[in-house]
Amino acid sequence: MTELNPTGKPLPKATPETAPFWQGCAEGELRLQHCLDCGHVQYYPRKLCSGCFSENVEWRAASGRGTIRSWSTVVAPSSPGFAEEVPFVSILVRLAEGPTMLSVLRHCSPEQVDFDMPVEVIFEQRSETIYIPYFKPAG
Ligand SMILES: [Zn+2]
Repeated sequence: MTELNPTGKPLPKATPETAPFWQGCAEGELRLQHCLDCGHVQYYPRKLCSGCFSENVEWRAASGRGTIRSWSTVVAPSSPGFAEEVPFVSILVRLAEGPTMLSVLRHCSPEQVDFDMPVEVIFEQRSETIYIPYFKPAG
């Protein structure tokens, strides 16, 4: 069962594979894994490169920028903790480094969203150590 924080929102738990990602978020830096053998860049975090199955992957800071590939306006909260946030815009972001990331768009109404809209990452604190990456229109 997913742990909830006091606001009723799911609280991600860092694992050995994801700890560098969450540490980066806490430091205000989006991090992606780069394969040193084939050059593939991946998200979500994995032990192996999803391009060539090499274990020779390293973490690097990403630009935090991307464009909206697709989106959906969420009107029914998936958890009681999100009841006050609906409607919000769930987005697929094509990161500048290549991978696609599922996130939420902040500081933008559902009517203003568009394909290929430039966005940049922001972080919102959910617990003492967990910061969640969201996106906002690039400014
Ligand atoms: Zn690879």
